[in-house]
Amino acid sequence: MTNDDPMALSVEELVERGVDSVKAGCNYCGKSWSALIDVIPARTTLRKIRALMVCPTCGSADVDVEPNWPDAPTAH
Ligand SMILES: [Zn+2]
Repeated sequence: MTNDDPMALSVEELVERGVDSVKAGCNYCGKSWSALIDVIPARTTLRKIRALMVCPTCGSADVDVEPNWPDAPTAH
């Protein structure tokens, strides 16, 4: 079995897996924040979300996103 590419998952599929938000991190200024995904259209993929995401602090579009998996251990 191959792992799913999380970036190819849609909001709908993420929600099915128990994800209700994504972690976003700005590669320019280092700001990180969480964004709820239940306001995003269900067919939108994580890759598309990343493409649309803009840092609220510095305005950079160089932003990484990853799902907030419900069972993921807290990482630092
Ligand atoms: Zn930034």
